[in-house]
Amino acid sequence: MAQSVKGMRDLFGAELRWFQHIEETARRVFGRHGYGEIRTPILEELDVFKRSVGESSDIVNKEMYQFTDKGGREVVMRPENTAGVVRAAIQHKLLSSNDPVLFYYIGQQFRYERMQTGRYRQFWQIGAESFGVASPESEAESLLMLYSFLKELGLKQLSFSINSVGTPESRPAFHAAIRAFFSERQEQFCGDCHRRIETNPLRVLDCKNEGCQAALAGHPVITDFLDEGSAKHHARLKELLTVLGIPFVEDPRLVRGLDYYTRTAFELLSSDLGAQSALLGGGRYDGLVKQLGGPEVPAFGWAIGLDRLALILQQVRGEAPATPPVLLIPLGERAATAALQLARSLWDAGIALQLETRGGALKKAMASANRMGIQTVLILGDGELDAGTVTVKHMATGEQESWPLTEVTARLGTA
Ligand code: AMP
Repeated sequence: MAQSVKGMRDLFGAELRWFQHIEETARRVFGRHGYGEIRTPILEELDVFKRSVGESSDIVNKEMYQFTDKGGREVVMRPENTAGVVRAAIQHKLLSSNDPVLFYYIGQQFRYERMQTGRYRQFWQIGAESFGVASPESEAESLLMLYSFLKELGLKQLSFSINSVGTPESRPAFHAAIRAFFSERQEQFCGDCHRRIETNPLRVLDCKNEGCQAALAGHPVITDFLDEGSAKHHARLKELLTVLGIPFVEDPRLVRGLDYYTRTAFELLSSDLGAQSALLGGGRYDGLVKQLGGPEVPAFGWAIGLDRLALILQQVRGEAPATPPVLLIPLGERAATAALQLARSLWDAGIALQLETRGGALKKAMASANRMGIQTVLILGDGELDAGTVTVKHMATGEQESWPLTEVTARLGTA
């Protein structure tokens, strides 16, 4: 029997219902903030990621689904969506005015990673990017939107970790300090860190290796090395988050995995995923648009893992809000005709309902209703048709009642 490719799974049933509920909530909340959707292709040219995510990153080094297409182009199945959004915004000249440009996306990403809980090779991200504004206020607005989104989904224990990674100009001083620190205890660090200290010293700080984390005790703190502008920016963001009641902690080891971050970097970990897995992350990336060949435009954004979010919501809240909660079961051919007409009038009135169209025994249809988590069953047989009624069974209590056919729309509409 053929199986899905390792790390790639089919979505359906309870898990997909959470995906859909999350996506609907995202569209509603982000729309309210004035963000518009963007959809970019899954395949991008290799260069887009080399120039953005960076050749020293694990993603570009080890994790990309990369191949040569039939036309000889080096292409990649996107491992993240920010680079594609920036590439699209430049290509279509969306950033040429000074106006802010606000986008969100929902889409699959691909990384050839080692498998563990909540980690897949095809996974989904929801993200938001704002272009054209460099202020801490724009970051507070974006974080507030993210916070409202998670609150509306019913997550309670939320606290962002934040840090500032300064600017490319202010970073060399910190690089020097961390290299000096490293060289005094280099035998305690892993091989990857020895490579990182040469190519991108910041990354030593977020090495997942426990030995490296222990060896980092007392490391120089990047926020002590910020230029004046970055320090002010960081202080103002913290002030705004406090005023807005958005919980956060400062994490001096938070540097994010990618080369393009400037100033603010943030994450949200969830203990529900075990092993402190990140649920979302983001930050400011003022240099990226230019790096990809566009104008000098500041930007801020984040991405949240939809698979992990669905997993957490399933644990915390159980079933996703069910749709549709009503099943109409006709008994016999005459009732089947009437049921199609009744269902049509309910659908036209905007009421969600499933229609049993298989015919056959009531017992079989009721068993299906149970399995599907249907809340209300409407039964229409010859007796009901003659009386101008429908029999209604409430699945949770087993109670049964009779409604006049003329009242079904109104009663379901207010249920
Ligand atoms: P990143 O782009 O690495 O910052 O990832 C942002 C978010 O995407 C993470 O916090 C995760 O929730 C999610 N994510 C990243 N990689 C995976 C993966 N392999 N499987 C599932 N979710 C992932």
